[in-house]
Formats: sequence, structure tokens, C-alpha cells
Amino acid sequence: MKCNIIQDLIPLYIDKCCCEDSKKEVEAHLNECSECKAVFDGMTADIDSKDTSCTTPKTSKINDWKASILQSALLFASFLIITIGVAIEASIPHGFDNGFAAFNIVIPATGFMLSLANWYFIKFYKSKKAFSNFSCLITFLLIVCAGLWCGFHYEFSIFDFINAYWGSSFVDFFEGVPLHLMLYGSGILFTAALCLISKFSSNAYAKMLGKE
Ligand SMILES: [Zn+2]
Repeated sequence: MKCNIIQDLIPLYIDKCCCEDSKKEVEAHLNECSECKAVFDGMTADIDSKDTSCTTPKTSKINDWKASILQSALLFASFLIITIGVAIEASIPHGFDNGFAAFNIVIPATGFMLSLANWYFIKFYKSKKAFSNFSCLITFLLIVCAGLWCGFHYEFSIFDFINAYWGSSFVDFFEGVPLHLMLYGSGILFTAALCLISKFSSNAYAKMLGKE
């Protein structure tokens, strides 16, 4: 085949837009003809230099870095909260209040920390929205499951709660019940806050990794 025909085919060959027969012709010719090989090399070198000067890989690298910083910061923060919760729990003398710090601080923070494992599977999610909604759901379910386990572990029950105050003086009742409801309520509020943090931070994480 003539060199000018081959040189017309080279761009199509590079873009993989030619048929199998043309592809074979071009390859066979390039092995024999140094002039056409030089044209081919010139065109592919152009493409390579354009790729390296492109800014997209650089910004995506910075975003990857930001994403891993976000993930590490959240891991560290939840670990810190767990440590504080365990320290508070350990400082509470054994009695009815046993397990309150575990229930309200350690359990929600642990559920949140475990839910971050889901972030390693981001590529399996179809969209940013699906990922952030599922992350929020996983955080909630992990906290509820761990909370139930914690409830069985400390043998909490509404009957214990009533028994503890049944027959106590009115002063004890009105001092104790709101305090305990407040403590339970703080755990529920903390759980809700962590679910929201999970939703928004996973959304930001997906955005940094260029997920649509
Ligand atoms: Zn040629």
C-alpha cells in the first residue's frame, strides 16, 4: 500500500477507529517503512505529551489526598471519643448508672467508626447519593445493633428503670428520672448527629473522588 494512504490511516489506527483489515495493513507497513513509522511515532508522542501536561490527574491526586485526610480525621475523632467515653465509664462507680457512658458515648462513636469501613467500597456504588444515603443507614444500623447488644450486656430494661425509682421519695424520683431521661436522650441525639455527619461527610468524600 502507498505511504500516503497509510499515513491517512494512522490517526484512525491510533484512535482504534479502523477495521481489522486496515489495522493489519498499517501494522505490516509500519514494520517495513521507516518514514511512516516516524510519522506514527510523532503522532503518538504528541498524544503522550498532551496527557502529561493535562491538569486533571494533578487535581484528582490532590482530591484523593483530601479524601484520605477526611477519612483519617473522622477515624481519629471517633477513636478519641471512644477513649473519652471508656474513661468516663470506668470512672463511674458500679451501680445503676453503670453503662450510661458506654450507651450514650462509646456505642454511637463505635458504630460511626465501623461504618467508615463502608467507604472502602465506594466504587461499588452507582452514585454519590446512593453512597451517602447508604453510609448514613449503615451508621444508624450499626449504632442500633451495638446499642441492643449493650442493652443486653448491662441488662437494661424499662422494669429496672421503674423498679429503681418505685417507692423512692418524690424528691429522688424527680431528681433521678429527668437525669436518666436526659442521659438516654443525649445518646439518641448523638446518634442522630452522627448519622447526619455520616451522610454529609460521605457525600463530600464521594465528591472528592469524582463520583457523580
Ligand atoms: Zn510508508
